[in-house]
Amino acid sequence: MSQIAELGHQLSLNENPYGPLPSVREALSGALMSANRYPEFIPRRLPELIAQRLGFPADQIVVGAGATGVIMHILQEFVTPGDGVVMGSPTFDGYPLLTATVGGRAVEVPLTVDGHQDLTAMADAVDPRTRVVVLCSPHNPTGTCLGRRDLQDFLDRISPSVTVVLDEAYIDFVAPAQRVPSAELLARYRNLVVMRTFSKAYGLAALRVGYAVGSVPVIARIRRWQLPFGMTALAEAGVRACYDAEQELALRTAAITLECGRLTTGLRDLGFAVPTSSANFVYLTGCPPSEIDRLRGTFTRDGIQVKHCSTGIRITVGDAAATDAVVASVS
Ligand code: PMP
Repeated sequence: MSQIAELGHQLSLNENPYGPLPSVREALSGALMSANRYPEFIPRRLPELIAQRLGFPADQIVVGAGATGVIMHILQEFVTPGDGVVMGSPTFDGYPLLTATVGGRAVEVPLTVDGHQDLTAMADAVDPRTRVVVLCSPHNPTGTCLGRRDLQDFLDRISPSVTVVLDEAYIDFVAPAQRVPSAELLARYRNLVVMRTFSKAYGLAALRVGYAVGSVPVIARIRRWQLPFGMTALAEAGVRACYDAEQELALRTAAITLECGRLTTGLRDLGFAVPTSSANFVYLTGCPPSEIDRLRGTFTRDGIQVKHCSTGIRITVGDAAATDAVVASVS
């Protein structure tokens, strides 16, 4: 077995390959010293901290146990059994799974062949029983982004009584000039909720911190589901320390983006179809099932864990060694 296989590469969960910065580690160790104390009953300081950073009032922010926790609360609040939740397919597994948990119906709209969410088909899929529509930008698993014009046209077509979740879990990997101005959209569309997480670019997946930004009445409804003492004190300490180390973290994000380009080029040079990704993963798509099976065996043989989706294989961007291992494995 090669050395690569012995070491292995965990590339199936879109994690950040880097552990916490020394300053973040120190803040977390400090917070551990008070582990005998409860965190806040209902978090106030953490939403306040995020609100200040983003330039929103704190009552427009709700935090949760990762974006997953907030998504759960959104679905609990807005979806009753039999209601529809429209989403792209494939998408982040949490959406169909949690929709089923609340008894909702996942209305899955296939992506276009080039890996984009089909906004026309998604708007057409909305019916009187639809309560929530989910858009992701960048999209998981393809890494493609929505453009401002398309997004706005879409929002104009959706009834204000339907909650539109814009999941920006990977937004920190997108160059600022390419980002849709979500603050402007939030001011215009009161049914829009923007989701973010500290699990990806900020590298705090183990601490479970995510949040949503939306209009005051919508956020108040989502907050009703918050679990008392549900957010850990480490979460607040970790976010505070990350905000204080934003420039060092941006260097890491830039390194991941560079590696994403290298991985994309390496795979395209071998003849694979890879949509241009604005996130920390790439998607091998358009392969016939026999090729998918071959790749599955190849990655397993070489100790590379990847995510198999219905229409392709998603590979998280790791460090340079991981890129080399993936390209060597499929060559
Ligand atoms: N949204 C998307 C699009 C994701 O890919 C993920 C994680 N893979 C999440 C939300 C959830 O992230 P977390 O719960 O760790 O914040």
